Amino acid sequence: MPAPADSALIGGSIYTLDPGRPWAEACAIRDGRIIGVGSVAAVRELCGPSTDVFDAHGGMVIPGFQDAHVHPPMGGVEMLQCNLTSGQTREDYLATVASYAEGHPDAEWILGGGWSMTAFPNGVPIAADLDGVVGSRAVFLPNRDHHSAWVSTRALELAGITEHTHDPADGRIERDEVGRPTGALHEGAMGLVERLLPPGSAGDYVEGLLAAQTYLHSLGITAWQDAWVTSSPGANSFEAYMTLAGDGRLTARVVAAHWWERGRGEEQVEGFSALRTAAAEADRFRATSVKIMQDGVCETFTAAMLTPYLDIHGHPTENCGLSFVDPEALKRHLAVLDAAGFQVHIHAIGDRAVREALDAVEAARAANGPSGLRHHLAHLQVVHPDDLGRFAALGVVANFQPLWAYADAQMVDLTMPFLGPERSALQYPIGSLLSRGVPVAFGSDWPVSSPDPLAEMHVAVTHGPPQGRRFAGDHDDARPADPFLPDERIELAQALHAFTRGSAFVNHLEQDTGSVEVGKFADLAVIDRNLFEIDDLDGGISQARVTMTMVGGEVVFELAGA
Ligand SMILES: [Zn+2]
Repeated sequence: MPAPADSALIGGSIYTLDPGRPWAEACAIRDGRIIGVGSVAAVRELCGPSTDVFDAHGGMVIPGFQDAHVHPPMGGVEMLQCNLTSGQTREDYLATVASYAEGHPDAEWILGGGWSMTAFPNGVPIAADLDGVVGSRAVFLPNRDHHSAWVSTRALELAGITEHTHDPADGRIERDEVGRPTGALHEGAMGLVERLLPPGSAGDYVEGLLAAQTYLHSLGITAWQDAWVTSSPGANSFEAYMTLAGDGRLTARVVAAHWWERGRGEEQVEGFSALRTAAAEADRFRATSVKIMQDGVCETFTAAMLTPYLDIHGHPTENCGLSFVDPEALKRHLAVLDAAGFQVHIHAIGDRAVREALDAVEAARAANGPSGLRHHLAHLQVVHPDDLGRFAALGVVANFQPLWAYADAQMVDLTMPFLGPERSALQYPIGSLLSRGVPVAFGSDWPVSSPDPLAEMHVAVTHGPPQGRRFAGDHDDARPADPFLPDERIELAQALHAFTRGSAFVNHLEQDTGSVEVGKFADLAVIDRNLFEIDDLDGGISQARVTMTMVGGEVVFELAGA
């Protein structure tokens, strides 16, 4: 007689993501793993008097969500600083900055971030607004996507940024008609101020990571890939993960993607290897991926495009955006990283960046043969039709942030006019890539946008705005409209797959997670309703909420009153 289950979950419908048994009534758990899945009667057989029995209260049980592209230390630190993510307007932001400044009179710098470009004319905030609420204090506030920062006049002064300062090669200083800086810095220009900031302490990252982990568990997330792990002094998120993994406070399963410094070359790989080795024995933490950022974003015309951006009148400009890494160098880097056994996670938004990334994976394949490392391209906003067929052939995983695939103000006002109708129609080809057999993983890019998988799946399925604003960072600024690019919508089952098995695949965690099957870890999320029984999809998926989250059989979140 085997030992009885430690716990069991009954009273709901389990959507297992196991094709052999898609639905079950109950599951039993022992030593952190699932030991039985099936009918209530069969699971009761595995229970004893000491078994904890959890009731799903008629909800839906799924394998825990896995976020394939997220920045928890950054998001968590911001949650604990001047956090603008719940605001919507310029006035909201200024009120938040004013009260934070008042509450932190001794802070040398006012730091935090999370503003949305749509709150400002042309997407650009100005220093004068900040000066109006903080006087002569220094302020540095990145926006949600971390591609631009809003700074005060004092910050510009400290950095020595004047009308005589040239734009750096990889960025742009926002200016008035006569060239004076106005208080917004894009891409590499942020570094002019960033280098002056007081280094965050290791403690800041540990506290931020814990805050982020609590928040992500409350959304049913049990694992993630951190798309920007650094080990530099002052920004040592690697050390924060190791600290939490070492003392048992890391409850999520995490794959770290080391940050590739684009000013440096392949000499970085040795350091990554040392960190990978250091993390090899850690519990729930591995450092086996490398993140390379190949371009910027469309909204600031820094995404790398095959043809130029348009101006506001629809005429072509001279600007095709930025390739942050020389494409030939990118091929060499990929081959070296692939040979060293690292998965490569590439930020690719524009059609040229996507092509350069695919070319680089192709070069790695030619040099090294098949590696099984599951290199992935994240964001994939504009993909040229000629490149859609290359993903499956190269074994590249498409890592989408589905929350972005609807016509919010950022899309309608700041993106589509400058791409033009033809390229605008090529955005976020989730359906096109799935139909070509490409493995798809989902992630949020939080704190860029909400990490709520229910909101993200809602958009993937409807291509309309998520409903309800429960979480910091929710986008609720959409115009009611027809679905955005309706042909790229996908089925709920496909969205659930991408957020569980799909992300487990890219994290190389699919042997142990991603479905509710005997032998896998009991990483589970309970949702308050069966998503497949929602009639009104437009109101539905994003209105649901997670009531309980479990990792390795331990409850890591429980909704109060549920
Ligand atoms: Zn990101």
